[in-house]
Amino acid sequence: MLKIISTLVFVTTLPLAGYAQDGLPIFDGHIHYSQSVWRLISPPQAIRLLQQAGIERCLVSSTPNEGSEKLYALSPERIVPFLRPYRTRKDMLSWFNDPATLEYVKKQLDVIPYQGIGEFHLNGTDANTPVMGRIFRLARDKGLALHAHTDEAGIRNILIRAPNQVVIWAHAGFDKVPIATLQELLDDNSKLYLELSFRNDILIDSELNPHWRDLFLDHPYQFILGMDTYIPARWSLLPDYTDDARYWLNMLPEKIAKLIAHGNASRLFPVQANR
Ligand SMILES: [Zn+2]
Repeated sequence: MLKIISTLVFVTTLPLAGYAQDGLPIFDGHIHYSQSVWRLISPPQAIRLLQQAGIERCLVSSTPNEGSEKLYALSPERIVPFLRPYRTRKDMLSWFNDPATLEYVKKQLDVIPYQGIGEFHLNGTDANTPVMGRIFRLARDKGLALHAHTDEAGIRNILIRAPNQVVIWAHAGFDKVPIATLQELLDDNSKLYLELSFRNDILIDSELNPHWRDLFLDHPYQFILGMDTYIPARWSLLPDYTDDARYWLNMLPEKIAKLIAHGNASRLFPVQANR
């Protein structure tokens, strides 16, 4: 009897969308394998953790870039490497103003087939320096995407200075950027993609925030999922994070859930281009 009751409970709590969320493959738009991580998690262990979490492919960046290069060497079909314009963490505060950045980026781009520049950090008018103008032109000429961790003013400046280039906005500006602002930016910029790590307003009381739902339905081709493994603990928890993402993806129409989970990133970074 007990068994029957528990089965009934399970059936009645199945998500309304009615398709299996288990195993929805993920193309993660925000993986880091930086020095603090590779000291604890070897490249083979990192690849195993990605597999366990159902992350079939991912954008990877790291400080220093050697981390991305280690993972790419091991699994080139899974790893889409992005080049960070930092030689060390110290560069994070000055790179956008330092002419040495451009020389470093140009040289490093030859090491493995990098497909983008980022995730880089800047805010507001940091995007307006002459060095950044040259970085944007280099990305345009080489067909590289940009992955920016920046505030609202920063993303607006990037979009002005790098028009018609693929720009991925890390964390979609975090919760402090209103959803209405995201809507306006997506309406005006068809090559802007929002990466969703740390947007903690997508769920409200375990339900999909209706404003986010509307945004997903309006712009289904402009979202990329991300887990952001910037510290070792987030690597260990990757399977939990991907399950959490599948939980809310399952509240969307299946076609849109698949676009956000992997379709949009796969379209931008097809496997062939990665080899
Ligand atoms: Zn990051």
